[in-house]
Amino acid sequence: MAAPSRERWSKEFSRWFDWVLEEAEIYDYGRYPVKGMGVWRPYGFQIRRRVVDLIRSVLDASGHEEVLFPLLIPEHLLRKESEHVRGFEAEVYWVTHGGREPLDVKLALRPTSETSISYMESFWIKSYRDLPRLFYQVVSIFRYETKATRPLIRLREVTTFKEAHTVHDSFEDADRQVEEAIGLYKRIFDELGIPYVISKRPEWDKFAGAVYTVAFDTVMPDGRVLQIGTVHHLGQNFTIPFEVRFQRRDELIDYAWQTSYGLSDRVIATLIAIHGDDRGPVLPPNVAPIQVVVIPIPARSEEDTARVEKALNELEERLREAGIRYRVDRREDVRPGRKYYEWEARGVPVRIELGPREAREGSLVLVRRDTLEKRKVEASRVQEELEKLFEEIRSELRNRAWKWLETKVRRVETVEEARKILEEERGIVELPWCGRQECGLRLEEMVEAGVLGSPLEKPEWVKGRRCPVCGQPAVTSIRVAKKY
Ligand SMILES: [Zn+2]
Repeated sequence: MAAPSRERWSKEFSRWFDWVLEEAEIYDYGRYPVKGMGVWRPYGFQIRRRVVDLIRSVLDASGHEEVLFPLLIPEHLLRKESEHVRGFEAEVYWVTHGGREPLDVKLALRPTSETSISYMESFWIKSYRDLPRLFYQVVSIFRYETKATRPLIRLREVTTFKEAHTVHDSFEDADRQVEEAIGLYKRIFDELGIPYVISKRPEWDKFAGAVYTVAFDTVMPDGRVLQIGTVHHLGQNFTIPFEVRFQRRDELIDYAWQTSYGLSDRVIATLIAIHGDDRGPVLPPNVAPIQVVVIPIPARSEEDTARVEKALNELEERLREAGIRYRVDRREDVRPGRKYYEWEARGVPVRIELGPREAREGSLVLVRRDTLEKRKVEASRVQEELEKLFEEIRSELRNRAWKWLETKVRRVETVEEARKILEEERGIVELPWCGRQECGLRLEEMVEAGVLGSPLEKPEWVKGRRCPVCGQPAVTSIRVAKKY
């Protein structure tokens, strides 16, 4: 059978996405009476938990230590680094009262934790022997977003913010940590089959308080670009005002260097969006709360009914033994066709159909959610067959997503071509660039889109080409896109 059409899904992505969150009971958005805040429902929470488990396992295995800081940050801490506060000021929620009493010191709901963590690091870090230290936490952050909010994509409470904060004894070691963080994020996105483009953000769009920012972006089904992860070299921008000092190897006292890097609910939004189709999401087996749903096909005779029941019991035992997360849908008042539809809409990667014929033959029918392809297997070999199928689904989802992203990244040499592509197809457009800020800003206006930045390494193809804005020789390329 052919894969479901992806037409409607990409053209009406926003409606599709809202429908999926509702239909699959992932995230209830818009009903909770605070704008920009939604509720994780049990099924969605299970997806979220598996994604967070993956992130934790990658960070734990690379020397990161999990911590938990208070939600409230006093105003004077938040104001200590001036660039930082300028970047966040318009988005901070303030707690101003305790009961009936106005507070002496206003308290911010954390928009991010560079300030509170740097403050505590000033007590913890004494010597080069203490370094590097790699901390992280998974917490809620709050931002008073003034742009239109969207479920899991632009929220006022981001409920799954993984922020890592690291401290180093030199600029170079922090640089190396940025590299390492990029590698860890690649691993996480690869596990989830999420394709990405890595760019060094331009000066005018780096994190408030960073020396430089590297970002992961992906193209959503509607062609608009979503930032899904960022890595910042913070230099000594926070350690100087917060006095995070340490004794160097040569016994001199110096300020430490830092990095920070974050992932959010957007990782889960992307996971759902990227692998979806008209029938709903397609969850990769490694994070699917239910990996296999078993649908018994009702039999007419008593003899067949008993046979199906026996085969079901054997199947359950095999699935349990293999540690597979499964569910048997035994509802008697719901027809199999209806059940297929419901589980497809929840993105369960594999369906097993078991009826009188299969019970007699000692076989099972496995149906892949991603391609809807059916295969008949021997019931006694179901564990190996599923293991193989999970791996196939995972790698094919990833390959399909990467291929799609590649068609969405285009190279052009004129502003006119860039404008046309961004208007008609969106995606990411790369142009040669002289590297000057004024040309980048001018380009944003000319193509009516945002700059994502430049590749980390100078791309070969710009050699001998010119900046389409000023006509000077290109030193790198610049990426532009319609952004979320
Ligand atoms: Zn230029």
